[in-house]
Amino acid sequence: MFEDNRSKRIMIVAHCILNQNSISDASANLRSQFTEIVERIMKENIGIVQLPCPELQCLGLDREDRLGGMRPVLEENTRIRESMLREGNLKLLEREIEKIVFQTTEYRKHGFEITGIIGINRSPSCGVETTTVKNEEVEGTGVFMEMLSEALTKDGQTIRMIGVKTGEIQESLNRLEALLKKAYKA
Ligand code: SF4
Repeated sequence: MFEDNRSKRIMIVAHCILNQNSISDASANLRSQFTEIVERIMKENIGIVQLPCPELQCLGLDREDRLGGMRPVLEENTRIRESMLREGNLKLLEREIEKIVFQTTEYRKHGFEITGIIGINRSPSCGVETTTVKNEEVEGTGVFMEMLSEALTKDGQTIRMIGVKTGEIQESLNRLEALLKKAYKA
């Protein structure tokens, strides 16, 4: 099955890598996509699966505060993290994550490679190497990526994760390159 022209390779990316319009007010520094990352993945003929934007889903585009964009980014990120941790929001994230785990299970069942998951460092929701806690960028994962990682582990699935940052293009590309190299070796 599926021995047609498809590459059978998948990369799962944070929503805003493909759509910067989802980012919280005043923190998008690109117009539409994180082009360098998207083009590099496309060059490998890897299909791109876009995750939902957890903050948009839980808090809306204005993250429940029209004036949020006026705060310093780390302060606003801290407020957003606290909002994301409300019980109703965690439940909503659990439901979203179930759908993602279903997809990864299906792809793996049929022999597709899930090359990795790419999050957004510093984000209170999608950070992988760094996130925001108490007005600081610290090592650690965002609320959504942590839940996703736990759900995958619980399901017996290991998928490599990296974080990128639109303000650190070369470093982000280096991380992606390392991820692609590991995929070749796997
Ligand atoms: S980092 Fe995550 S929560 Fe923030 S805009 Fe991107 S997808 Fe949405």
